[in-house]
Amino acid sequence: MRFAVVGGGISGLVAAYKLRQSLGPDAEIVIAEASDRVGGKLRTVSLAGDDIDIGAEAFVGRRPEVPALLRELGLADQLVHPSGLRPVIWADGDARPLPPGTLMGIPAGPEYLDRLVDGETLAKIEAEPTTQFAWDRTSDCTVEELVAARFGEQVVQRSVDPLLGGVYSGSSRTIGVRGALPTLATALDDGAPSLTEAVRRALPPPSTAPVFGGIRDGYGVLLDALVRESAADVRVGTRVQTITRVPGGQWAIGGIGPVDGVVLALPARWAAELLSGLNHAAAQALREVPLASSALVALAFPAGVELPQRSGILVATGEPLRAKAFTLSSRKWPHLAEREVKLVRASFGRFGDPVSAWSDAELIGAAREDFAVVSGVLAEPVDALVQHWPDGLPQYGPGHLDRVAAVEAGIAELDGIEIAGAFLHGVGVPACVASGAAAATRLVAR
Ligand SMILES: Cc1cc2nc3c(=O)[nH]c(=O)nc-3n(C[C@H](O)[C@H](O)[C@H](O)COP(=O)(O)OP(=O)(O)OC[C@H]3O[C@@H](n4cnc5c(N)ncnc54)[C@H](O)[C@@H]3O)c2cc1C
Repeated sequence: MRFAVVGGGISGLVAAYKLRQSLGPDAEIVIAEASDRVGGKLRTVSLAGDDIDIGAEAFVGRRPEVPALLRELGLADQLVHPSGLRPVIWADGDARPLPPGTLMGIPAGPEYLDRLVDGETLAKIEAEPTTQFAWDRTSDCTVEELVAARFGEQVVQRSVDPLLGGVYSGSSRTIGVRGALPTLATALDDGAPSLTEAVRRALPPPSTAPVFGGIRDGYGVLLDALVRESAADVRVGTRVQTITRVPGGQWAIGGIGPVDGVVLALPARWAAELLSGLNHAAAQALREVPLASSALVALAFPAGVELPQRSGILVATGEPLRAKAFTLSSRKWPHLAEREVKLVRASFGRFGDPVSAWSDAELIGAAREDFAVVSGVLAEPVDALVQHWPDGLPQYGPGHLDRVAAVEAGIAELDGIEIAGAFLHGVGVPACVASGAAAATRLVAR
């Protein structure tokens, strides 16, 4: 038996590993990866002499997938958790507390927002349950359309956008309620009488579990273990451009040859290209998933520099800054606090920002200038590097769930092809791990 996984990001590597577990040592598994390395949006590189992550750096700690995978791979000792310091939001030229108890920044009441928004906005939030509310169960809308109408634009810009900018490289204008906030949509569909009440119902139950987890030596150790345990023939520099049916039921993968089954684990646009001759509806739905580009600047400051006592600084939309967020890595992660240097990650790029056109020098300059504004740190970094992430994150816009349903229905018609990736059921690493594993399970079952 011969199988191909097209795309060597985390979704594809997990699919290959799970295929190996199910099929045993005799199956041939080929991973075709277009770039010169595996990992996709996960990348660990050296800065000031030590490894750091310059793509994803964390995962949602309440989801089981990544800790379970680390345990399975003998890497349980790599699991780390943040220090517990909270981030702040930079709004109207000042650092303000990130309100607790919100659903992706949407509050269940005015009580925690008093230092973030003005009195008029607080009064609007307070009165929201008493004003007439209509929710259309048959349609979808942007998060902005819902939240601005009920709570006002300041809640959108200062509370919701900073969080959506981090998760999706998007904003409330590019992200839809049903795709990004499914528990809120369910509460609204079930007849919640106000947005306040819907948020209250949609909030997860209180938990003492850490909100985030990370990997001590960087995501690179997870990637290495997956490659090793999948015992796959990894072909980097192999951009697959065609998939065609061959007599006998196999699929011919351009550059790889005939296989009995294939997992596509690509960003939406490239999956669309490969499916265009095979299933029109799935390809069309994938083409309709917009992708946001972003860039990350990692800065290493001298040991003597005092970073603010925060895990990060998120920037409200509309501020006169180019960066959208700063992670104060040496404050956020106890294992990074032990390093000689003080580490900061500056993130750029909300959907539509022309980040791909900014040179490395411009990005480092903007990171330093903006960081000086929000932190007061003027020191010269001892090391800096830039990572561009063109088309890095899919936008779960209004109607996203219909597009996912069309993709999955189209794939179900193609015996021997499965699909995984960040555009399906969540952009985070845990969701991608789940999607790669599920694709492998379905392929073996078929
Ligand atoms: C800057 C940034 C920060 C993030 N931070 C976090 C975080 O802290 N926590 C979190 O949970 N998530 C985070 N994410 C999201 C998460 O990292 C990604 O959604 C996830 O890694 C995507 O994995 P994937 O395997 O589905 O896709 P990708 O990583 O995009 O992998 C797809 C692979 O397919 C390859 N490819 C494309 N076309 C072809 C072709 N024709 N043939 C062969 N190969 C091809 C690509 O080169 C790529 O390697 C972040 C994302 C970004 C961009």
